[in-house]
Amino acid sequence: MTDPAGRKPSTERGDASAASADGATRGLVHEEPLLFEQGARGRTGASLPPAPAGLDPAQEIPAALLRPSLEGLPELSELEVVRHFTRLSTWNHGIDTGFYPLGSCTMKYNPRSSEALARLPGFADLHPLAPPELAQGALELMHQLERALSEIAGFDATTLAPAAGAHGELCGLMIVRAWHASRGNPRKKILVPDTAHGTNPASSALNGYAVVQLASGPDGRLTPEAVRAAMDEDVAAIMITNPNTLGIFEGHVAEIAAIVHARGGLVYGDGANMNALLGVARPGDMGFDVMQYNLHKTFATPHGGGGPGSGPVAVKAALAPFLPLPVVVKEGATYRLVTDARERPQTIGRLREFWGNFGMFVRAWALLREYGPEGVRATGELAVLNANYLRARLRDTFHLPYEADSLHEVVFDDQRQQASGVSTMDVAKALIDHGFHPPTIYFPLVVHGALMIEPTETESKETLDGFVAAMREIAERARTDPEALRAAPLLPFRGRLDETRAARKPVLRWRPGMKVE
Ligand SMILES: *Cc1c(COP(=O)(O)O)cnc(C)c1O
Repeated sequence: MTDPAGRKPSTERGDASAASADGATRGLVHEEPLLFEQGARGRTGASLPPAPAGLDPAQEIPAALLRPSLEGLPELSELEVVRHFTRLSTWNHGIDTGFYPLGSCTMKYNPRSSEALARLPGFADLHPLAPPELAQGALELMHQLERALSEIAGFDATTLAPAAGAHGELCGLMIVRAWHASRGNPRKKILVPDTAHGTNPASSALNGYAVVQLASGPDGRLTPEAVRAAMDEDVAAIMITNPNTLGIFEGHVAEIAAIVHARGGLVYGDGANMNALLGVARPGDMGFDVMQYNLHKTFATPHGGGGPGSGPVAVKAALAPFLPLPVVVKEGATYRLVTDARERPQTIGRLREFWGNFGMFVRAWALLREYGPEGVRATGELAVLNANYLRARLRDTFHLPYEADSLHEVVFDDQRQQASGVSTMDVAKALIDHGFHPPTIYFPLVVHGALMIEPTETESKETLDGFVAAMREIAERARTDPEALRAAPLLPFRGRLDETRAARKPVLRWRPGMKVE
């Protein structure tokens, strides 16, 4: 079998060594063997002086400290090590390499101006224990960001402490529990719709709450009836993602909030999808009491390997006394950090060491200052426009499980491809051969074979058109050559892995002489 360019697919390429001419490079992208298969005995990355005469290091190390199991460790030159990791890095796909339409993850471009500001020595080198008098600029920035985030989502106060979205959920639900406890009863249950991100039930359980799952209606939305039926005085809160993970606006949210409030419950907003609402609608105005942001989604701070996340939590005034420490306060023209619980007796305490992922605050602040209110609004509008563009251009090729208008993301499924035996997994893998990162697949769980596509506002029409062309071509091949599609991807050095085996029998420890397939 050959790939579209007439080359041998990687699945048939037996020899992975760099010495083999066939398959050793693809253009200037290099195949890369394991470190264990490279180097030579005695090779080293550092120039060390020879051992003093008469001293044999092997003799000097006490037998108890010798580790024979380490025998066979690779010995390489500095250049070999540098090339190894640099080459591997070229196999990776990131937002700076190409389109990354991972639904629910909002993989958008992180502007270099934000990066440059976060690297200013006054921010980057500031010691977390520097006295506040010497950190006024940093505290002012935190205070301004806190105010901006409160305003954008319609809340009264915001903590910047949580390190990611899930950490924000944990924090928000700790606040919910503390608020109920202060009124005499922490309650027992959290209501979570079936479209929710998996972190929602996990955060509920971590806070000691039982999870009650709510089925969404036939249009993908949560219904007031389902909430009314499940709501009682044991329910501490409902967790709602709006727009939900189908990319659909929860149109009944105000009515649902009223039902929950009437029986003493609180409404938690999973704000990871705030991109869709920016500058257009505010969760605080819809009846939400507490919500986490994901700065690494909505405000273009790096994701995953690119840097730590940040999950600020915004609350209504009644919940503000429970916010975690530290709290930045402005007194006259100076800024101060409240770190002592005696000053905030109802605080849930500290979530982590120091003040949060400060470098992310600088990046998000810089983006907000650069965009201003109009730019923030344009972000939301373009994110929605881009998702609807993909929806309109792909709807005749891929099946739409829900007809409701999309906000920032659109969910297709593999219903039309199933007849030829092609699944969502095959479509996702085939996109790699076209140079696109696969979208989120098989989530949300309510859609069988879901393909969840989120283009974000940072992609151009040309990129979206290229993606549409690739998706159409894949759909066409599903009809004409399903066998080839099921073998995709063919172009990367590593083809399709046996995912079950990779998960069940991972090779995590290399032994001398072991051949890794
Ligand atoms: C990403 C996401 C989360 C979790 O955020 P992390 O920063 O990955 O912990 C929670 N809910 C939704 C809807 C998300 O998309």
